[in-house]
Amino acid sequence: MEPTDLELWEKTAEFHGHICPGLSIGYKAALYAKELLDLSFQDSNVAVCISETDKCPIDAIKAAFGCNEEKNSLFVNLTGDMAFSLLNRATGKSVRLVYKGLNAEGLDRNEMQKAIINASHYELFAVEAVPESYSFS
Ligand SMILES: [Zn+2]
Repeated sequence: MEPTDLELWEKTAEFHGHICPGLSIGYKAALYAKELLDLSFQDSNVAVCISETDKCPIDAIKAAFGCNEEKNSLFVNLTGDMAFSLLNRATGKSVRLVYKGLNAEGLDRNEMQKAIINASHYELFAVEAVPESYSFS
């Protein structure tokens, strides 16, 4: 059975070791990519990710899809954007999710983390085509 969103969040937090805004961004990106690309959180051999950050969010992608460097299913391409390109190997469908940023005015780290979790996919991410220069292998 697919994990519920809460089960996935608990697994993600345990994998990362702490709860933070960055992890929440990665978790939400994983949920959105799953929906857009018909991915599964159970099959760890289908998703490939090119992450444009090497910070906390990447752990959420690892926990959700089993992507990792050893399996050649996780690549880091530091561009300065908080963006994640994902590919469904089974269908060939791919998408680039770019974090747009939330208005954090007056929010502490904790409140920011919760605001990210509670925001809609549309508020958080722009959906783009994967740049042609990106290679998933
Ligand atoms: Zn973190």
